[in-house]
Amino acid sequence: MEAKELMEKAVRFHGHICPGLAIGVLAAKYILEHGHDFSPNEELVAVVENDNCSVDALQVLLGTTFGKGNLIHQDYGKNNYYLYDRRIKKSVKLALKSGKFDDKKLSRDEKIQLLLKSTPEEIFNIYEIEFNPPGLAQIEESIPCEVCGEPTMNSRLMTYNESEMCISCYKKMRG
Ligand SMILES: [Zn+2]
Ligand SMILES: [Zn+2]
Repeated sequence: MEAKELMEKAVRFHGHICPGLAIGVLAAKYILEHGHDFSPNEELVAVVENDNCSVDALQVLLGTTFGKGNLIHQDYGKNNYYLYDRRIKKSVKLALKSGKFDDKKLSRDEKIQLLLKSTPEEIFNIYEIEFNPPGLAQIEESIPCEVCGEPTMNSRLMTYNESEMCISCYKKMRG
């Protein structure tokens, strides 16, 4: 699919058009053109090192979503994207290059147009990496917090003054 068409689909999900989204579209375009398909379940898992606009393009175009647990955010502030494909046991890393599209003289719209005319290879350094995906999403039992009563994932309960409580109650108790 052309970058422009992918961008239209991404904009419908994201809500507005922006250079960040165009970066995510190019990452998704590369993935879709290199033997990986949209992920209805957890076939793909994306690890992203930022939480900016670009990630929405991955969610809508690749099916690596926050809700399914196949989108993992590491808060490193870098435009790096790791994609693991469990169907074919292959992984790829895309790392944004600093480049012509960051020119401060370009308008927002010029940046978007320039990005959409670029190939993924022009804006990313792309590496094949070892296939070691993060584990599958875990489904676990919820237990009511002893303070507020709200069901809380077992592994997230904290113990304080001999009570098991959710993290928000724990933070309030500790002041
Ligand atoms: Zn945006
Ligand atoms: Zn609570």
